[in-house]
Amino acid sequence: MAGSELIGLLARLADVGAREATAREVARALAVDRVMFFVRDPELGSLLPASGFPQTLRGGAVWRAFVRGCAGPGRCEADLDELEGSGPEPHVIAYVQADIALFLFGRSPNVDVLDTVLAALPLVGGMLRAEHAARLAEGRAAVARATGRHANDLATALDAARVDVERALAESARLNGELEERDRRKDDFLAMLGHELRNPMAAISGAIEVMRSEPDDREQLRRARAILERQADQLAHLVDDLLDVARITRGKIVLRPEPLEVGLLVQRAVDAARAAAQAKGHRLTFEVHRRVDANADRTRLEQIVTNLLTNATKYTNPPGHIRVVVDQVGNDAVISVEDDGIGIPEHLLPRIFDAFHQVDPAIDRGAGGLGVGLTVASRLARLHNGRIEVTSTLGKGSTFTLRIPAQGAPSAIAVEKPSVESVAAPTAARARILVVDDNTDSAEMMLALLESWGHEGEHVADGRAAIERAVEMRPDIVLLDIGLPGMDGFEVAARLRAEPTTKSARILALSGYGQESDRVKSRAAGCDDHLVKPVDMALLKRKLFAS
Ligand code: ADP
Repeated sequence: MAGSELIGLLARLADVGAREATAREVARALAVDRVMFFVRDPELGSLLPASGFPQTLRGGAVWRAFVRGCAGPGRCEADLDELEGSGPEPHVIAYVQADIALFLFGRSPNVDVLDTVLAALPLVGGMLRAEHAARLAEGRAAVARATGRHANDLATALDAARVDVERALAESARLNGELEERDRRKDDFLAMLGHELRNPMAAISGAIEVMRSEPDDREQLRRARAILERQADQLAHLVDDLLDVARITRGKIVLRPEPLEVGLLVQRAVDAARAAAQAKGHRLTFEVHRRVDANADRTRLEQIVTNLLTNATKYTNPPGHIRVVVDQVGNDAVISVEDDGIGIPEHLLPRIFDAFHQVDPAIDRGAGGLGVGLTVASRLARLHNGRIEVTSTLGKGSTFTLRIPAQGAPSAIAVEKPSVESVAAPTAARARILVVDDNTDSAEMMLALLESWGHEGEHVADGRAAIERAVEMRPDIVLLDIGLPGMDGFEVAARLRAEPTTKSARILALSGYGQESDRVKSRAAGCDDHLVKPVDMALLKRKLFAS
C-alpha cells in the first residue's frame, strides 16, 4: 500500500462509526492480526484504550501491569500466553510515543508499513486525544448535569420540607393560640364565678344581719326572708347550670322522654318568665300557629325554652318585645324566641354556643350569668335529636330557633328506667322522722321545717348514732345524708334494712350527687328514694305527705 494511501486510511480512523472496519484494514496492511490504539490520559498520566477498536482481551491484572509497564516512549512486547486472559494472538508489541501508543497483536508487522504508520502516529494521537478530551468533557458535563439535577431535586425536597415545617409551625401556633384562648376563657370564667358567688353571699350576709339586729320587726324579717329565698334560688340555679355543663360534657345526662303537647309546655315556660320580662318593661307575646306534639323530656325542654327567654329578657333594652312562636315545619316542632334587643355581632354567632363564651363579658356582667346557658341549651337540644339556630343583627335583635322531631319517639333518645321516686310509698300524716346529717345547721333547719309541717323529728350526726337511735326510736322515715364521715349513708341504709325494728322505715337518701349511678347505688343500699341537694322543699313536702 502506497504511503499516501496508508495516511488516507489512518485519517479515516477519525470516523468512530467506521473505526472497527478501518482498524481491520490497518491490521491487514501491517500484516498483523489486530491493532489497537491507546491514548495517554492527561490527568491520570496512564494509557487508556481509545474507544471503538475491537477488543478481545478481558483485561486481567497481568495485562494491566503490562500496559502500565509500557509507560515511557519506546517499544515493549510480551507473549500473550504469559498474559492473563489473553486472546488467540500469541504475541503483542506496543510502540509508545508521548501520548499515543500502537498495540499490534499476532505476527511480526510489515516493517515498511510500520515505519509509515509510526511516522503518522502523532497525527492519529492528536485526533484520538482530542476525542478522548471531548469524551472526558462530556462525562464531566454529564456529571455536572446529574449533580445539577440532584441539586434541583434536593432543592425541591428542601422546599417541600420547608413548606411542611412552616405548616407544622403554623398549626402548632394555632393550637397554642387555642390553648391560650381556652386558658383565658377559663380565667374569665373563674373571675366571673367569683363575682357571681360574691353577690348572693353579700345579700345573704346582709339579710342575716337584719334578722339578728331586728328580731322583732316583722316587716324587716319578711324582707330578709324574701332576700334569702331569692338568693338561695339564684345560687341553686348557678350550681345547676355548672353541674349540667359538667354532666352534659361527660355525656351523663339521660333524658326521660314522654309524649307532650309542645304548645302547652312552652306556655308554662312563657308564663313563668312573664313576671321577669314585665318587671324589666318588656312585652312578652306567645303564639301557637299549629298544635304540635313531640316525645321529649318535659323538664329539659322547659329548661331550654326558659334559658332562651331569660337571655331575651336580659339582652334587650326596655321597652322591648319578646315574641315566642310554636309551629310545626316539616317533621319538626319549631319553637322560636325572637327579641328586638342588643343583638350579637355576626363574627361571634358561630361561637355563641361554646361554654363560657360571652359577647362582651364586661358588659354582660351587669346582666349576670356564666356564659353556659346556651351551651347547656344547645346540648340538650342535641340530646333530643334537635338543634338550636340563631340569627341576629347587631342593635336590632336576635331570634333563637329550637327544632326537635315532632311526634313519634326520636330513636336515639335514651330512656331512663323508672326511678324509685315514682314508686315511693305514701307517708303517714304525722310521722316520726330521724334526720341523719353531719351538718348541724342543715339538720336543725330541716327539723324546724318538719315540725312546722306537723311531723316529729330528731337529729343525729353520724352513721353509728343513726343506727342506735333508729333502733330505739323506730322512725317512720329516715332522712339520710349519704356523705357522712366514717360510715356512709349507703352502709347506714343497708344496716337499717337488715335490722328487724327498722327494716320497714322509709329511707330517703339526701345527696349532692344526682346521677343515675348514684340513684342506683341508693336503691341497691335499700333507700326508697333519692333526693338531690339542695333539696327542693316543695318536693320534699309532697313526698312526706304523699297519700
Ligand atoms: P350568659 O347569659 O350566662 O352569659 P349564655 O350561654 O346564655 O350565657 O349566653 C352567652 C352569650 O350570648 C351571652 O353572654 C350574650 O353575650 C349572648 N346572648 C345570648 N342570648 C342573647 C340574646 N337574646 N341577645 C343578645 N345576646 C345574647
